[in-house]
Amino acid sequence: MGVLPRTTAAISAAGALLLLAVVGSTVGGSSEPALGAVTSSANAVAAEPVQLRTSAATTLTRPVFTGPTASTSRVVYLTYDDGPSRYTPKILDLLKAYRANATFFVVGSQVRTREATLRRIRNDGHLVGNHSWNHPLLTRLSPAQVRSQFRRTDAAITAQGLPQPRCERPPYGGFNTLVRRISTQRRQSMIIWTIDTRDWALPGARVIVRRTLGNVRNGSIVLMHDGGGDRRQTVAATRAILRGLHDRGYTIASLPMCR
Ligand SMILES: [Zn+2]
Repeated sequence: MGVLPRTTAAISAAGALLLLAVVGSTVGGSSEPALGAVTSSANAVAAEPVQLRTSAATTLTRPVFTGPTASTSRVVYLTYDDGPSRYTPKILDLLKAYRANATFFVVGSQVRTREATLRRIRNDGHLVGNHSWNHPLLTRLSPAQVRSQFRRTDAAITAQGLPQPRCERPPYGGFNTLVRRISTQRRQSMIIWTIDTRDWALPGARVIVRRTLGNVRNGSIVLMHDGGGDRRQTVAATRAILRGLHDRGYTIASLPMCR
């Protein structure tokens, strides 16, 4: 696996430190369970610059999130995609035990079968983002289809009493100018990640833990999956990751841009 672009940079704007969450990974590879050979193309489109709305109305050229300032404690953002599933409650139990918060990017069609779990995510204090209706590569869809993917998922989430999601993550991290524009029009922030654990490939819990703890830094956004297959490794890894981050003094929080 080659070394991917890793250009985490920091700029000062309006007194805040903005950390650029660069598309790609510190540990190599593309994202998520692949349907066919989409990962390479997803990577290619994901390398395009993206403009996002920020709280400071600052227009930047890459996925961005407002990270902590130097004066705050160190923070890590754990994110879980493709749920809710039967593994989600186990992850919620672990998060609760460590008083940690995470962000769950849910698939709309999954919500119908796990409505109580979705509500528990919110009731436990975590945040929910939009991860499309049925996980297509959005770059292959028409504008109307992309809007439908996001709109239907928003509706499934709000139907359970949750607020309108403020952020979304495109399946496979794949986006282009069209997807970017639609996200902006829908006033949702696009969130990618900085650490791709590739947990979906079932490398073993220890590997998932090492990829996370070995690459973590202040402001890291960690990609894992609570749905889409057998997630026992992810559950086991989550336990060790929480312990490791806790021991290192990290605060484990939901993404502020999803609030
Ligand atoms: Zn996904």
